[in-house]
Amino acid sequence: MRRSISVFKTSVLFIVLFATLNVSVALGQTRWGQTATDGAGLGLGDATTITWGFVSDGTAITPAITGESTDGSELISFLDLNLGAGAGGSDLTNRPWFSVFDNIFDRWDAVSGLSFSYEANDSGERIDSFVAPRGQLGVVADVRIAGHSIDGQTGSNTLAYNYFPDHGDMVIDTDNVSFYSNSSNNYLGLRNVLAHEFGHGMGLPHVDTTNSLQLMNPSVNLSFDGPQIDDIHQAQVRYGDNWEENGGNDTFSVATDLGIFNGTEILIGVDANMGASLDEVDPNQIDFISIDNGTDVDFLEITLDGVYDMSFDLDMVGPTYNHDGNNSYSLANQSDLDMVLFASDGTTVLGDSDNSGLGVSEQINMVLQAGTYYVQILGNNNATQFYQFGASGFSAVPEPGSMLALGALGAFLIGRRRRIAR
Ligand SMILES: [Zn+2]
Repeated sequence: MRRSISVFKTSVLFIVLFATLNVSVALGQTRWGQTATDGAGLGLGDATTITWGFVSDGTAITPAITGESTDGSELISFLDLNLGAGAGGSDLTNRPWFSVFDNIFDRWDAVSGLSFSYEANDSGERIDSFVAPRGQLGVVADVRIAGHSIDGQTGSNTLAYNYFPDHGDMVIDTDNVSFYSNSSNNYLGLRNVLAHEFGHGMGLPHVDTTNSLQLMNPSVNLSFDGPQIDDIHQAQVRYGDNWEENGGNDTFSVATDLGIFNGTEILIGVDANMGASLDEVDPNQIDFISIDNGTDVDFLEITLDGVYDMSFDLDMVGPTYNHDGNNSYSLANQSDLDMVLFASDGTTVLGDSDNSGLGVSEQINMVLQAGTYYVQILGNNNATQFYQFGASGFSAVPEPGSMLALGALGAFLIGRRRRIAR
């Protein structure tokens, strides 16, 4: 589903980031290695919970940008003045602007293995490039948000900056009154800046694209809303997809339950299936799934309510576009995925499809009895591959002769295979 938003003119504004050293920088893929909720030892592809919160006004900020003020944070009073204070009080979750921030974290959560939790407390420590307090539950957030004057609101202009993991703190330029107080499209300007800055906060660098618009482009753009396909892919490289949360789906016992198959096609991963061209990602789209590296596997559970001649189809999906100088960067050609079908015990292999090559589809056709089955999807390359998986089929009545051959596996093949038309 496409959503059109009105584009309003704005002067060219630039967002800059301020990078800190990170242990993962050699991989070119920075991400959080330790958070208040999950502790230490986090690695590439691990689902992760990050706490976030605001510093109190007056909290010291060491300038990181030429010309930046040495004043303490004034973000809360700035937001109260320009977006409304509501009933005020010490509980910031009652502020009318709280949901603007909260929704940004919800959106990143929905399209990645990241989860977020608001931390109401803050330790009051200075925001500084060299010293960042570790997040601690009930004490201080992993990601602390502050704001004060940076460089005015005209000309080549900084809107905000953000430290990379495991620092993550954000400083918003409160000089940009007209930009941030613009309520068009539910504060789209503020929202896209917050989503971009937190993109840095989760470890995403800028991306240069000559034929597409992405949230992590260096300049803010208000012709789309929130993370776009390259941004979502970069998030899943680091944290996996949304199904990696809450224990993930890496074994059959925690398989993602796709429900009961009753003859109606089940199709997942459709939002990354843009064909070769590149579409705008709608902020309501959440169906982006991937194998995030060479060790990740996904288990899917499907229960048939009868005997069906089934077709399981696995397609590598994603558009092709210019990415950091590569004119033919294809999200559909990141990793060679394979598919295995298991019986209800989760270990007996009923079929598999392991065509070689990037972007090559996999398919398993088989007549199956009523019951529960597991499909395992796995990758052969250490890269993050969006996929679309479909289960379709039509009721099959076993031929009497075949019934005798119904083995203990509970599955058998009859006649010629044919592709289900869809
Ligand atoms: Zn940036």
